[in-house]
Amino acid sequence: MTDYDSETVMLRAERRDEVYVREWVNRFDKSAYTPNQYTVLERSNRFYGPELLLHSESDGTDFNYLLTAPGPDTYLYLWAAETDDKNHREAWFKTAEVKVAFADTQPTYDLCPECGDPVQTIEHEQMAALGRCPGPDPDL
Ligand SMILES: [Zn+2]
Repeated sequence: MTDYDSETVMLRAERRDEVYVREWVNRFDKSAYTPNQYTVLERSNRFYGPELLLHSESDGTDFNYLLTAPGPDTYLYLWAAETDDKNHREAWFKTAEVKVAFADTQPTYDLCPECGDPVQTIEHEQMAALGRCPGPDPDL
């Protein structure tokens, strides 16, 4: 059921990419602070598929989120963090079902001194710093 834009984000988003919510399909919990635009912090590949750690900031406070593709019967799930009074994350809770897309403005990446391509993945950055560029990032 995942739509094309959402699928593209789940397959291709890397840290620092900007994504936004195109459509709030379902709101499970209205108490969470859920802005329309997020920055990708990290991509993880779980056995059930990719998972994106997202970030947003409001009034100097950091908010983290998870974006997952739960399966064929739903769009993407946006999970908000349950935090203690020091803003440490204790758990995730499902706050909404969403459709997302890449924002129009994207960050600019440093160019790799070895292959000359934008350095987008953490692996590329780490290897390039060691002078062992793994080659251009896929899907760019
Ligand atoms: Zn490179």
